[in-house]
Amino acid sequence: MDIRKRLETDLREAVSRLRQVGGSAALEELLGASGHSWAFADEVDEIQANERREIGFATRELLVERVNRITAALDRLNDGEYGTCMECGEKIAAARLRALPEVQTCVRCQDMIERRMRHQDLEPVEVEAGAEDD
Ligand SMILES: [Zn+2]
Repeated sequence: MDIRKRLETDLREAVSRLRQVGGSAALEELLGASGHSWAFADEVDEIQANERREIGFATRELLVERVNRITAALDRLNDGEYGTCMECGEKIAAARLRALPEVQTCVRCQDMIERRMRHQDLEPVEVEAGAEDD
């Protein structure tokens, strides 16, 4: 499996979706600042872009986060650090990387981080209920 291709495909998809929801400014800030030049050439259907502009800020934020994660993963790939957990330094399981190529932490650390975030978040997290269930 070519992980770089997979990440670039994911990045392109996230980028074009972000543009569709009107996040171009955020995107340019994001990718411009870190000197990334890839995946920008995608043309976006303007009509569709207008239709989707209604999609909320939250969606845009999620996409920005995703773009961030994927570019970080590509950086890590370039640095030869890809596939290593950023928290504990252990190898991330291959199956996990296949499912989520942009992850930067192993399951254990991800679990810890999510629990930490949940504690900080005072709002109920109903949205997540059942999302990962079979
Ligand atoms: Zn870890």
